[in-house]
This record gives sequence, C-alpha cells and structure tokens, in this order.
Amino acid sequence: MSESTVRIGLVLPDVMGTYGDGGNAVVLRQRLRWRDIDAEIVEIDLPDPVPDSLDIYTLGGAEDSAQRLATRHLLRYPGLQTAAGRGAPVLAICAAIQVLGQWYETSSGERVEGVGLLDATTTPQLTRAIGEVTTTPLLPGLSAPLTGFENHRGGTTLGPGATGLARVSRGVGNGVGDGLEGVVQGSVLGTYMHGPALARNPELADHLLCRALGVDSLPPLDLPEVDRLRRERLRA
Ligand code: GLN
Repeated sequence: MSESTVRIGLVLPDVMGTYGDGGNAVVLRQRLRWRDIDAEIVEIDLPDPVPDSLDIYTLGGAEDSAQRLATRHLLRYPGLQTAAGRGAPVLAICAAIQVLGQWYETSSGERVEGVGLLDATTTPQLTRAIGEVTTTPLLPGLSAPLTGFENHRGGTTLGPGATGLARVSRGVGNGVGDGLEGVVQGSVLGTYMHGPALARNPELADHLLCRALGVDSLPPLDLPEVDRLRRERLRA
C-alpha cells in the first residue's frame, strides 16, 4: 500500500450487509483502479474498533437485531463520527440510515438511540416496503435517475438538518408520505436502495469518490455493460 492508496472502510459487513451491500465497497475500489488510482477495502468487523482515518466509509442494511448490535458498536467506537466530522464521505444503506439517525423504533416497538450523524428518526410502518424503487436525484451534481431494490418496514422522517437524496417516482422510499428517498447531511449520504446501490448507480459512486478525493470530476469510464444493466432496470 502506498501513501496515496484510497482506503475504503466497509463497516460491520458481518452484521450489516443484506443484499450484497458490501458490493458498494467493491464498486468504489474498482472504479478507482480502472482510473489507475490505488485503492483497498478495510473491513471492520464486530470486535474491531472503528478507525477514523479512512478516506470513505460504507455501511449496509440489516435485520432489526443485527442493526442493534451495529448501533451499540458504533456508539462504543466513535471513529465513524470523527471521520464524518472532518468530511469523510459515508454511504449508509437502509438500516444504516436508521442506525446513523437520532433514534429508531424496531418492529417490536422498542426505541433505540442512534449514532446521531443524521437528523432522522425511524418508526415501523403498517406495511413493509418491498420492490424496485426509481427516483429523481435532488442532490446537486447528480442527474441520472437512481434505481435500487428496497425492503424495509421502517419509515424515516427527516428533520431540518437533513435533506432528501431524491424524489420517488416509483416505489416507497423513506415511506412517510413526503415523497422523499434517502438522506443527505454534510458528508453522510443514505439511501434505502440495495442493489448494490453503487453498481446500479455509477454516477452516485463517482460523486462519492470525488468527495473522497477532493476533486470536482473524474475521467469518465466507458462501461457498456453497466449502461445496459441500467437500461434494463429502468425499463422493468
Ligand atoms: N430492519 C430495517 C427495516 O426493516 C432495515 C431493513 C434493511 O436494511 N433492509 O426497516
């Protein structure tokens, strides 16, 4: 590893990684390597303290009991909070939005204190949101529709400190009637989209990489197979 290697933190994939969300870290690494930028994935598992020195972090979704374990761990080892505080980009998928919020209620109605990086609270809804979701991004710098697969019972309400990542055109999204999907607050970006989200939304992947590298843009990649996959998903 050289000093310029971009270090991607894959946070707690042993408890938070439903639907192959760990693939988001692989996509980030590969999109850097294709551009001849050294990159490596640093996997942080449950016994490990969370380092605050990495360049970018990703967290996946989880079932209620697993997300409780993750919440406790992140509060005990606040490296992620320190890193986000200095502007390191953090991608939070599904349960990770809930965990990084102020608090969330599990499907059995128990309220759990969150990590507090996001001005967001989550309560269980009457029906589970399952299926494809398509959205129009609200985040400046993104223009292509975002697509993914959602499966969650929690509905997330954003407070004034946070904004939506996108507006839902198909599917449920945050699920509290405001038409929003996902959340953005400072360097933390959350979405209910599995997929993995970054494999299905390369523009979002490059947006996060630009933030991690402190650059305005990256050389485009010509990947017809990704374009084909996106066209199929958007048509379906
Ligand atoms: N357990 C959470 C919910 O059902 C998150 C699920 C997930 O990450 N897919 O809302």
